[in-house]
Amino acid sequence: MSKIICREAELKRNNLWAPWRIGYIQGLDKKQGCFICHNAGYPQQDEENFVLWRTKNSLVMLNKFPYNNGHLLLASVRHIAGLEELSDEEMLELTKLIVASQKVLTAAIKPHGFNIGMNFSRCAGAGLPQHLHIHIVPRWEGDTNFMDICADTDIISQSMKDLYKQLKAASAENNLPGF
Ligand SMILES: [Zn+2]
Repeated sequence: MSKIICREAELKRNNLWAPWRIGYIQGLDKKQGCFICHNAGYPQQDEENFVLWRTKNSLVMLNKFPYNNGHLLLASVRHIAGLEELSDEEMLELTKLIVASQKVLTAAIKPHGFNIGMNFSRCAGAGLPQHLHIHIVPRWEGDTNFMDICADTDIISQSMKDLYKQLKAASAENNLPGF
């Protein structure tokens, strides 16, 4: 019991501070449509949409409003909200993509750890509750400490385009996602 409380307190303390996300959150209600479906439908725009991988049933893309450098989003191609709607094949594919995502990020930018999670409904923090997606957030020792001190500075130090190229190269070198 006390262990659980301690861990919760620890998680709260380690929340990432990402002030640039406010533009995204404020724009949510204005935005028409679904950016994941949009990205899925326009493979010719993968580079500008930062879509890293396409597999049979899924997409992996860089989050344009990252919590931390290298923040990836994994999504089913199908516009569905709940895990219970996934087929076994889709579920297996997304799980394999979690592993492949950790591998490519480790090869390219060497995180010390990861937060991996999903949010369901707005109240739980889902920016796009209608289309399920998994967040892969790389973490480095001391990243929260650094941000507490320099909250207003640009902590996403690597540009999205550079990062995209780096992840594409690491994918090719390591044969990822590998299916
Ligand atoms: Zn969608």
